[in-house]
Amino acid sequence: MENILQPGNERMVHYLTGLPNAGGYLQNIIMLSKTTDLKNYTAFYFNLKGFATINQRYGMDVGDRILIQFTAKVSAFLLEDELLGHLGGDNFVAMIKKERKGQFCALLSGIEISFKVGDKTEKVQICATLGVWDIDREVKDHGEIIGRPSVALQHAKHILHQPVVEVTEDMMKRVAMQKTVLESYQKALEEEEFLVYYQPKVNSKKQKLVGAEGLVRWMHNGEMVSPGVFIPPLEQNGDILHLDYYVLKKVCRDIKEWIEEGVEPVPVSVNFSRKDLIDTDLAKNIDNIITESGIDKKYIEIEVTETVDEQEHGELATFISTLYKNNIMTAIDDFGAGYSSLATLRQFQVHTLKIDRSFINTDDFSWKDEIILTDVIHMAKQLGMDIVTEGVEREDQVKFVNTVGCDVIQGFYYDRPLPKDEFRKRLVNKEYKL
Ligand code: C2E
Ligand code: MG
Ligand code: MG
Repeated sequence: MENILQPGNERMVHYLTGLPNAGGYLQNIIMLSKTTDLKNYTAFYFNLKGFATINQRYGMDVGDRILIQFTAKVSAFLLEDELLGHLGGDNFVAMIKKERKGQFCALLSGIEISFKVGDKTEKVQICATLGVWDIDREVKDHGEIIGRPSVALQHAKHILHQPVVEVTEDMMKRVAMQKTVLESYQKALEEEEFLVYYQPKVNSKKQKLVGAEGLVRWMHNGEMVSPGVFIPPLEQNGDILHLDYYVLKKVCRDIKEWIEEGVEPVPVSVNFSRKDLIDTDLAKNIDNIITESGIDKKYIEIEVTETVDEQEHGELATFISTLYKNNIMTAIDDFGAGYSSLATLRQFQVHTLKIDRSFINTDDFSWKDEIILTDVIHMAKQLGMDIVTEGVEREDQVKFVNTVGCDVIQGFYYDRPLPKDEFRKRLVNKEYKL
């Protein structure tokens, strides 16, 4: 095969490692496809775990030297008709014979590299995270050989948290949907395609409506799109902020309308993404929106989820305490779903703790669940918080939740999220007689 790594081909190679860059790699693939069937290959897209930390710790120069050594070791593994490319940073691509796929993954699960810092020799173990596509059909667009495994890599890193992930059609559909979302979002916002649904919170002892959560829906081309589809891409590119402000404004407007019509509202909670914390005026803007709408602050509560990220944790604490000082209620959403910690109860001045549905969404509640929930709820109450349990679907779950000390329930057992007009009927008659 003609080698692209020849003098005169500088545009096609990465300046540091001398490996083909994206253009060079694609050209190599085209050449390879002339002599062999690409279906004999597995395509990889990978990058190096913790490489940013290595750069920070030892400096970019050492980082560069590590990349060069890493490249040499991976290249040594390659057969003549296998390919490796360096797209930039610590992003690499490779085409490996299918029968050697396992060996290649094993190689990249840990490559030891030693280097000198001053007089000392240091060693690091470099492991890669890999997105994988076993090429299983004729490839018309060679870009797919980079694109498909890169989608798998994103899933490996951000969703599945696994070192090796194979691409699936579901992942590709999801990415296509996300692209549509990002492309049509601005127009959708202008054309008011986003609606707010209201899911009742019911006091199960009094059988009475006591609150609601505002949940966004997207009416797109006559189809109702759920937040699970469009919120992640909007969070990724920061656009979620505009949507969250929009939902808050809409909720305030609806509450105002009900008051003017003589219908007594209940407090409505509105979700704000942790990604919104990037706006340092978030708390102030929320306060302004509520104030300008002319409704009493007691009708709004702001829901946020916890975080393990230390910087975010600090921002969240400031955000919550600013709202607290301005008499705006807050809730910790999905408590118990992920990284819940008792520090959350201690540090955050929140009004409400929302217990995640995963807690009660098991077929049999174990005695352990019961002990944990009872104690968490007891502590939170002692600290002056209200408790809401989410995702209650059945009567036995209502009983369980009551036993562990929580009366307020949000779940399909009482109601699904309702369109505005349906919810208004609940406001007019707040009794639940089941
Ligand atoms: P969340 O804030 O925890 O909202 C509760 C979710 O649980 C809602 O899903 C609701 O429909 C669902 N749910 C309630 N009761 C039950 C039940 O009994 N069984 C089951 N299986 N599910 C139940 P939804 O509306 O699809 O929203 C999903 C998530 O999207 C929300 O979770 C929230 O994190 C996010 N979200 C929704 N609206 C907004 C918004 O305006 N802004 C932001 N940033 N996020 C939002
Ligand atoms: Mg919520
Ligand atoms: Mg929740």
